Amino acid sequence: MVHIKENISATIKKIRELEIKYGRREKSLRLLAVSKHHSINSIREAASSGVVNFGENFLQEAEKKIIALSSLQLNWHFIGPIQSNKTKGIAEHFNWVQSLDREKIAIRLNEQRPSNKSQLNICIQVNLSEEESKSGTHIENAQSLCALVKELPQLRLRGIMAIPAPEQNFTKQRECFQQLFVEYSRLQNLFPTMDTLSMGMSNDLEAAIAEGSTMLRLGTALFGPRS
Ligand SMILES: *Cc1c(COP(=O)(O)O)cnc(C)c1O
Repeated sequence: MVHIKENISATIKKIRELEIKYGRREKSLRLLAVSKHHSINSIREAASSGVVNFGENFLQEAEKKIIALSSLQLNWHFIGPIQSNKTKGIAEHFNWVQSLDREKIAIRLNEQRPSNKSQLNICIQVNLSEEESKSGTHIENAQSLCALVKELPQLRLRGIMAIPAPEQNFTKQRECFQQLFVEYSRLQNLFPTMDTLSMGMSNDLEAAIAEGSTMLRLGTALFGPRS
């Protein structure tokens, strides 16, 4: 039996304590609840604890949830790899896309974002350790992708997202997040609409807070293990 409400309040308390420990401004971290493979009822329970941002990795699974919960005014973030035949559904249903990693997808999302909806918020997914993961653009390409997104009227450039290779060592976790922070700061100077550095999951949230994350993406810590 997983106690979602208790997990959420304990996690929020821990985040506030870590903000103080690392001298972060109060409430400078947003919480994204990653609800992939978890039920509509679990999301409802999290929402009743005040969580408003939810992350999903698979369009078909997410569409059902978004439609079922449309009366709740939640913000939905797409965080999984994007195939081009999925961009239409993503552009129609989501508020954010955090896993944009190539030009073609940016152009399609812009074209397919319904004109009666507000701009689709975008984070570029960057990949520092290329060999570990297939998704994410190499850091050298991030700037040109940002420049493209900035020019597309239905998209709003909000920041960068990264999923570092799993690492248990705290010092190594911090080193990776520090590099991401440096890159984020550099891009933010060039693209002032950026306000989001999406890094840190259940396993490395302390290191991410220490190094300047502004959005933690937490699944297991809130919902328990995925079945
Ligand atoms: C699944 C997932 C998470 C959450 O991972 P946990 O370890 O369960 O906190 C975060 N970000 C992305 C992109 C994910 O796919």
